[in-house]
Amino acid sequence: MSEVVDHLAEMTRFRDRDVMDVTLVSALRDLLEPLSAAIYRCVGEPGQERWLTRARLRANDIVASADSLWASPESLPLAADEPLRLECMTHRGILQTRRGDHWLTLFPLSTEREVLGVMEVETLAPLKSNEQRTVASILRIYHNFQGLLDYSERDTLTGLLNRKTFDESFLKAVSELPGGTEKLHAEDDRRHAGALPSYWLGVIDIDHFKKVNDGYGHLIGDEVLLLLSRLMRNSFRFHDLLYRFGGEEFVVLMRCDSELDAEHAFERLRHNAAQFSFPQVGQITVSVGFTEVRAGDSPAGAFERADRAVYNAKGNGRNQVRSYARLVADGQFKEVAAVNAVELF
Ligand code: GH3
Ligand code: MG
Ligand code: MG
Repeated sequence: MSEVVDHLAEMTRFRDRDVMDVTLVSALRDLLEPLSAAIYRCVGEPGQERWLTRARLRANDIVASADSLWASPESLPLAADEPLRLECMTHRGILQTRRGDHWLTLFPLSTEREVLGVMEVETLAPLKSNEQRTVASILRIYHNFQGLLDYSERDTLTGLLNRKTFDESFLKAVSELPGGTEKLHAEDDRRHAGALPSYWLGVIDIDHFKKVNDGYGHLIGDEVLLLLSRLMRNSFRFHDLLYRFGGEEFVVLMRCDSELDAEHAFERLRHNAAQFSFPQVGQITVSVGFTEVRAGDSPAGAFERADRAVYNAKGNGRNQVRSYARLVADGQFKEVAAVNAVELF
């Protein structure tokens, strides 16, 4: 009993999802002594989902292994290759089955909004019902704690990240840039990826949104915001950070290899939004401005550059994606000196 409580205390000690997942599999290993315990998240676009290993511990492992958050989707196993996990997610219930000479028990992992993935425990004998109950109870606490984290980090309408969490993620991204504050780690997977990271910040503003509110009311306006946030999830990769910054303004912090890749992603969103038929309202378009995140950038400085590009799009017919760097190169506006973080935020 006290062992279980210790694990719960450890699991909720940090407000950090990575640590929570690792401590959860550690707890299960200590309690059940399985052959392995793992958490898999189902990620990627509908129809092309993959399994991202969040944490996995086998009997003799000293530390848990996990896929890099920046793993390219193509390198991850296909969701369809593990139908049992998909079934567990669909039915939202515990599944137990024999695989070869051992047993697999799967537990669904969900938030208030969606089922995220599964926890899979591999044992020599089937899990007894009291063991299943203990695990289910631990998962309820895990689930409640994730809900609290979501509550403080996410926008209630759309479920996207809120503005409050932006600065921290942004500064972390900056510290990973060449010339940033963080040294490259030898074991860092960016070496395997063969490329140094580059980050891009995009600001997305809905065109003529006041007309939606004025013509159809705030509730319909809110529904447009919710639907647009879904289009955003489907237009960017699972590891891109999506924010609702306020009102009808959204921000994306994206990691990708080149300006062209970033532009394609923003263009995909612009296109998907313009093609979508919003109930009652019909067509809605968005204007997007984006900029590369630079070593030494402040969150406000990068935001300001992308925002200026948005205003350029607004002034040139809307429903467009504009690159800050290209606007400067084309002489459309002059480079501004770095903005102090305090001035804007
Ligand atoms: P533009 O194309 O120049 O962006 O025109 P716009 O009408 O979208 O102008 P702006 O971006 O300044 O409009 C912001 C409007 O968004 C004001 C307000 O009516 C609406 N709005 C802000 N927050 C919310 C919200 O939470 N819900 C809803 N329904 N509307 C909001
Ligand atoms: Mg606006
Ligand atoms: Mg607008």
